[in-house]
Amino acid sequence: MPASLLPNVPASSLENRLRTELTVLDELGLRRRRRVLETPCGREVTVDGQKLLNFASNDYLGLAGDPHLAAALAAGAGQWGAGSGAAHLVSGHMQAHEDLEQALATFVGFPRVLSFATGYLANIAVTPTFAGRGAAVFADKLNHASLIDAMQLAKAQGAEVHRYAHNDMAALARLLEKSSASSKLIVTDAVFSMDGDLAPLNELFALAEAHDAWLVIDDAHGFGVLGPHGEGSLAHCQLPYHPRLLLMGTLGKAAGVGGAFVAGSDIAIDYLLNCGRGYIFTTAAPPAIACALQASLSLIAAGDNLRARLQAHIAQLRAGLAGLPWTLLPSETAIQPLIVGDNQAALQLADALRQRGLWTPAIRPPTVPKGSARLRISLSAGHTADDLERLITALKELA
Ligand SMILES: *Cc1c(COP(=O)(O)O)cnc(C)c1O
Repeated sequence: MPASLLPNVPASSLENRLRTELTVLDELGLRRRRRVLETPCGREVTVDGQKLLNFASNDYLGLAGDPHLAAALAAGAGQWGAGSGAAHLVSGHMQAHEDLEQALATFVGFPRVLSFATGYLANIAVTPTFAGRGAAVFADKLNHASLIDAMQLAKAQGAEVHRYAHNDMAALARLLEKSSASSKLIVTDAVFSMDGDLAPLNELFALAEAHDAWLVIDDAHGFGVLGPHGEGSLAHCQLPYHPRLLLMGTLGKAAGVGGAFVAGSDIAIDYLLNCGRGYIFTTAAPPAIACALQASLSLIAAGDNLRARLQAHIAQLRAGLAGLPWTLLPSETAIQPLIVGDNQAALQLADALRQRGLWTPAIRPPTVPKGSARLRISLSAGHTADDLERLITALKELA
């Protein structure tokens, strides 16, 4: 219906409050607006007719636009149709989903895997399922928003929740010692999404062993990228499967498609399948997505050259940006944050880069702590050394 035909009703008090809050966000430089892409995700994209080098996607291996994945998706749709028709536990679990789960379990070296439509959903399902009344959750303060929301759900069920300072193992050990909860869950990002640094997974696992806790790892940014052949952060840290471990990985970042998985012991996964509300009460992803993900898994497993290229880009960027007035956080991963501090200053820097045809998003609170607004430079094997040189030169000019 055209706006002119909408009935002219007076604003409610709620609407007035929302309008005021949005105005405040505007004034603080915190109002979000989406950019509409006119081309597929890749090293270069078009926005408002302008070509931009893309340092904004989590497409770390450059697979999102890979024609093999599009072909597998199309073939999958040809075989399976568009939709799954129901939740997995009703009638939506197809052979394509089943095959993907088996392939993922083999790839990450876990007994069993459950697939989800998104990582947000997977995280929302896991923590509250394993931490109800009498349990305790221990979470890193910089965990992803989905893990924080999951923790709040556990709290609403009567679990104790504790947040420890980022990667502070002494603080975590003290909290674990003090807690008399009947079961304990330590929950952490493996690669922190806005800082790019790694959690000390070996120390976390040792603490889990010492305190009879489980360790839940969100490997959204490690899966496909880290480890000898992209198996992820656990393999990178040489931590083999253990029944105390629950591994969540997302499939819309390095894997280039969409979705997520949770890997664990047979018992843990069967329990999640039976009791995880975020698993039970939602429609299974279109089966063609699972077909595209099978193709993606093959490219990831054979992608040592892609990972080597990405590592070279990381080294090139870090060397090129040394000595600039902004702090480059100590990250060895594809996520390279340049801390600006002030919200408006971060937006202005991102704007100036955009005028030069470079897309590096400004990330502001509440996504990151107040006063730490930053450019989140996201590197991909799809970039070239020249692309990185353009970014380095522009930042030097703007410094
Ligand atoms: C992106 C992300 C998620 C959410 O995954 P989606 O598949 O995008 O819903 C969860 N955890 C972390 C750390 C992430 O970066």
